[in-house]
Amino acid sequence: GSVAADAKPQASTIPGIRKLIAVASGKGGVGKSTVSANLAVALARQGFAVGLLDADIYGPSVPTLLGIEGRAQLEGNRLQPAQVHGIKALSMGMMTDPGKAIIWRGPMASSALVQMVEQCDWGVLDVLVIDMPPGTGDVQLTLAQKLKPDGAIVVSTPQDLALIDARRAVAMFGEVGVEVLGLIENMSGYCCPECGHVSHPFGQGGAEAEAAAIGAPFLGRIPLDIGIRSDSDSGQPGRGVAAHAFLPIALRVAREIG
Ligand code: ADP
Repeated sequence: GSVAADAKPQASTIPGIRKLIAVASGKGGVGKSTVSANLAVALARQGFAVGLLDADIYGPSVPTLLGIEGRAQLEGNRLQPAQVHGIKALSMGMMTDPGKAIIWRGPMASSALVQMVEQCDWGVLDVLVIDMPPGTGDVQLTLAQKLKPDGAIVVSTPQDLALIDARRAVAMFGEVGVEVLGLIENMSGYCCPECGHVSHPFGQGGAEAEAAAIGAPFLGRIPLDIGIRSDSDSGQPGRGVAAHAFLPIALRVAREIG
């Protein structure tokens, strides 16, 4: 291999964690959390030790996506992550009562999130996937600055409005010097389970064109699929269409993290 490939992979800023990858989106509802959970599980299946931090304080959905019940336990002053689907996971939703809104001002939210990363017993991880809060406000910017992720992945749907927001997310990472590993197009095409006809409710190919326009890699597309939606609701990631669709993306990300 090349000199670069033989060199010892760089460690992240958090002891025990080799790489931090932020999964972001310009706005909510594009499937950022669904992508984070399925990508984390797909990476674990490739043999990596993977953690998933749900930093989406406004709507922590990782407990539902992974089927985690109950609260995070403390040992001493260290938070214990849940161990599910071959990964370790910690969510703001494991700290609060379900259905209770967290109302924090920006600085408090970002320092609580940094604390969640640093005071959790992750053990030794190859990669910690961070499901970022949606959007590009102060909390997101501060998080990106404080955690210094090794790379960021931006999730978008194919339509123009979502892409404009995705562009903002890419610009935000550029501002703080975080490399954008690539874009993922979610809800890309819908295959009718009755007749097999493929339609494109949110357009087609928008994220790939956007990636090309801004010079970022395109990591792949995930179809709009009823199974992905129902498996998300029932806490069973990595099955059916998701298992197939996330494999090539996980392989590309694996190449990036070494
Ligand atoms: P975000 O984190 O961007 O707010 P979520 O991951 O919570 O978005 O997804 C929003 C909704 O869309 C959820 O109900 C989820 O199950 C659904 N969803 C996400 N991606 C897909 C997909 N590829 N196919 C079908 N449903 C999806």
